Amino acid sequence: MNDKRDDKKDLELSVIRDLLKKQNGMLGQSLIFSNHLLYLQKSISLLDLEEIKRVLVEKLPHILSIRYFTLFLFDKKNNKLNLACHNRPDLPKNMSIAVEDSPVMRDALNHGKYIVEANYQNSKFFQGKRNSLFQNNFLVCAPLMVENEIVGILNLNDNIKGFFSVGELDFVINITEFLSLTISNALLFEKVEDLSVTDGLTGIKNRQYLENIFVSEFSRSLRYKSPLSAVIIDVDHFKSVNDTYGHQKGDQVLIEIGKVLNVICRAHDTIARYGGEEFVIVLPETNIKGAFPIAERIRNQVENLSFGSDAEDWNVTISCGVAEIDFKKMKNKDDLLKVADQALYKAKENGRNQTIIG
Ligand code: GH3
Ligand code: MG
Ligand code: MG
Repeated sequence: MNDKRDDKKDLELSVIRDLLKKQNGMLGQSLIFSNHLLYLQKSISLLDLEEIKRVLVEKLPHILSIRYFTLFLFDKKNNKLNLACHNRPDLPKNMSIAVEDSPVMRDALNHGKYIVEANYQNSKFFQGKRNSLFQNNFLVCAPLMVENEIVGILNLNDNIKGFFSVGELDFVINITEFLSLTISNALLFEKVEDLSVTDGLTGIKNRQYLENIFVSEFSRSLRYKSPLSAVIIDVDHFKSVNDTYGHQKGDQVLIEIGKVLNVICRAHDTIARYGGEEFVIVLPETNIKGAFPIAERIRNQVENLSFGSDAEDWNVTISCGVAEIDFKKMKNKDDLLKVADQALYKAKENGRNQTIIG
């Protein structure tokens, strides 16, 4: 009788021991998860998307015990997913995919829920192209959402075991919730920063932005003795454009000039609306021989823009002043701008619709 009772007690003890062991294991696991989350929180609550992407590429595979991941950001306007970061050697750095072209991501986004496929190749989403990179077909496709707004999507491919436990999946959800907020904040921050340096009418940069860039370009030019030019553009008789055709038409002229500047200037040039109907271009690594023809091309294109209607067609012209950095005479960007401004003044005096070198 006693023996039987002892056996039962032993069994209970061993069950409890096993349970304790398991729960301790789970506690340990959840501690590891918390540490990982804490680490991510510390390192990517930086409001800088580039930094967030860098940390994710470096840490996410380890933290989630997966071999590969891709993170896409949602472009609502075009219903596209743009690849933001990943650690897949088979993919380019940037890539864009229409939501409709990826059934798995489309479904995850439409239902706002993550999709787990232990064998992706056997799932309804498989499109017949097996990726030789993956050792197993495990996939988690998790939408990144803030409230009901889609931020993007996180795909986890090919983990070591071929599945996630419930605890691990929970952890993935925690991570995606955290990532959604952090990335959404970073995107909002970028937008605010961008708006604060953008001219509301033309969409090109504003004066404040130009001043900052100009200061750093000028000092870089001084340091490396590299050429630097500036162009000031002013619309001719713009007051009478407003008086004749109305302020709204005047605004349209400024918008079209902004577009011309965007088309003609190169990626490393900075164009900005400097004041009412004045624009400034800063051209690094460019001497007067390079800057003059650019100003002339802009002037020509603006002259050829036509406003009004077929019945009553009208044009505008601009005057340009161009100047190049002079290392002996100029101390700061204002000195360069002054020479360009004096050239502009001469262009006006000479009869407008021309470019003068200062
Ligand atoms: P000039 O050939 O000597 O440059 O003559 P101008 O008439 O262009 O020069 P002025 O400086 O007398 O006039 C500039 C005009 O630009 C006056 C102002 O009403 C107009 N302006 C400034 N900002 C804006 C704007 O945002 N929209 C519109 N439509 N007009 C603007
Ligand atoms: Mg003016
Ligand atoms: Mg003017």
